Amino acid sequence: MSEGVRAYYDVIIMGGGPAGSTLGALLSRKSDLRVGLFEKEVFPREHIGESFAHPLIPVLEDSGSLGKVMASECWVRKFGGVFSWDSERPRVAFFDHANWLRDGVHRWAMHVNRAEFDHILLNHAAESGTDVFQGVSVSAFEPTGDGCVVTLKDGRVVRGGYFVDASGRRNSIAAKQKRSWLSGYRNIAIWQHFLGGKPVQSLPVDWNVFREPDLSPIGCFAFQDGWCWYIPVPKVVNGQRRLTYSIGIVTNPAVLSQPGKDFTDQDLFIRTVRQVPVLGDLIQDITPVAEKMLTATNYSMINDRFASYDERWILIGDASYFVDPLFSSGVAFAATQASAAALLLRATTGAELSERDVRDLWRDYDVGWHGMAETYSLSIDQWYHAIGKNNPDSIYWQSRGTSIDLDIQERTFDALLNTAFTPDLLQVITGGSRRIADLDHGGPFVSASAMAELDEPHPDAELALSAETRVRRGVGLDVPGFKAFIPPPPFDLPTIAKDAIARYWEDPIASGRLVPSPTDEPVPCHRFSFGDGPADVEIRGLDRDGAAGLVRSLRAGPIRYRELVDLLTIPQLQLLKRLVRAGMVTVVESAGRAA
Ligand SMILES: Cc1cc2nc3c(=O)[nH]c(=O)nc-3n(C[C@H](O)[C@H](O)[C@H](O)COP(=O)(O)OP(=O)(O)OC[C@H]3O[C@@H](n4cnc5c(N)ncnc54)[C@H](O)[C@@H]3O)c2cc1C
Repeated sequence: MSEGVRAYYDVIIMGGGPAGSTLGALLSRKSDLRVGLFEKEVFPREHIGESFAHPLIPVLEDSGSLGKVMASECWVRKFGGVFSWDSERPRVAFFDHANWLRDGVHRWAMHVNRAEFDHILLNHAAESGTDVFQGVSVSAFEPTGDGCVVTLKDGRVVRGGYFVDASGRRNSIAAKQKRSWLSGYRNIAIWQHFLGGKPVQSLPVDWNVFREPDLSPIGCFAFQDGWCWYIPVPKVVNGQRRLTYSIGIVTNPAVLSQPGKDFTDQDLFIRTVRQVPVLGDLIQDITPVAEKMLTATNYSMINDRFASYDERWILIGDASYFVDPLFSSGVAFAATQASAAALLLRATTGAELSERDVRDLWRDYDVGWHGMAETYSLSIDQWYHAIGKNNPDSIYWQSRGTSIDLDIQERTFDALLNTAFTPDLLQVITGGSRRIADLDHGGPFVSASAMAELDEPHPDAELALSAETRVRRGVGLDVPGFKAFIPPPPFDLPTIAKDAIARYWEDPIASGRLVPSPTDEPVPCHRFSFGDGPADVEIRGLDRDGAAGLVRSLRAGPIRYRELVDLLTIPQLQLLKRLVRAGMVTVVESAGRAA
């Protein structure tokens, strides 16, 4: 085969954005697998999505690219966000706010120039041993039973063991299915970069926790027709490194056809953003670095499947799903999925696991990340729903919070009960209380969570594993598997682990080994089911959350709820709820009636 493309790769990756290049680097550094990555464009290429969430940093550290990014000039350290949604004071939060309050160590992420950032990551994949081909588009994928055949746009054919679609929001050549909407509304984003802005942390107001220590946050500012992002982005302008600001408007496409609202007109865009409360104070002197405004539409979508072991394909990053950018999660989630996919592929091609264990891991990736995507989307919609009520006359805000039927299944109940809101999102949307009870009761997340909860059994009810329930021990994939993350209550970590995480965040590169990555190895778990078919509901409990102890208590024979509840931790109770809901644990009320 010409131009260095091998006839066969163990893993073929389509797309060299953050998801694909991170997966390439992780596989090449942590395994002997031969990896070929095909990227349609020649880098550097522009990309939207410039302000990251902090779970990204440990993945970059783990894949070895963090030092290279930090040695470049394309980034600014980011500490959290300012969210100005109503006439009240803006809501502010440092990343991992609750743990920062505990240990005083800032978790951080980056604002970046994506053209340079993505280029560094792609070069890093190549330097780690991945065969990277730029300017080479993939046009078809076919499974062959024990592998796959990939056809390039120029007609060349490459054989592979596994195929990973990391090609962003537009393709579906692996899953071969139309994507579904994740939200009821449709958005359009319009943006450009500008010189002359002032940093959000410079705002001289009492709520500005970022001001005194001069720490850079993202700024998000609502207005009548939508909301604006405001992100510092170091770019090379006319041959010189300058700090520009990425300013974007997210609105409803219908708004643009109203008189005087076509924000793709640059003059109108600038006039509009200068009038947005709080943001206006920072951008009176801005000038654009290019004349044309850029746009992206219709982006909150999800695939029905995220992986198929039988067909040998996995979707990672935006190719699997993309949630509205309201909380800047895209790249962090894409890289975290890459980290999970790296474990999946290493475990699948290694010799240690049985076929059953391998299939379990693939199922966990599909089910676990689906649950994450749907729960996160519900959280964002919950927020939109709350803010939307402040602007009853706006076309944009009226349509917020109209959530669609996501066909919520067991996988999402798991995420709703166990992962729920990311703590930072909860911090912001509750105005600091971090109590789910303080969320708006008509909102989509709260409604879905109510479905996941169950009425408490009577204290005298007797609980037992149903006769048909099969329980087996196995291994599982930790989803989302964020490294250096202290989970919110009811989950907890020992103090020693929390202290190591605090030290890690002071210098992730020097302290990389202090904290294990949850995606280094599969984790022990118990699996509950009625049958073995792919369509059968399966409930998984991780042993670290006490699944083994719950099984012991239930196997001892019928037990009164009042006795059982005394034995269980909150994570065990969450697992019990899911088992009762699925009928795998029966509840016999004292009168003898099965509930
Ligand atoms: C309006 C908007 C604002 C956003 N803001 C943020 C933000 O603030 N923070 C954040 O984290 N995220 C944000 N995102 C999301 C973020 O951009 C994505 O989540 C992220 O880029 C996903 O990375 P990826 O590697 O999956 O895909 P991409 O970065 O899209 O990379 C996919 C790559 O695949 C290549 N490719 C496509 N087709 C082929 C083919 N046939 N053959 C070979 N290669 C191919 C493409 O050229 C591309 O380089 C935003 C998105 C939008 C739409």
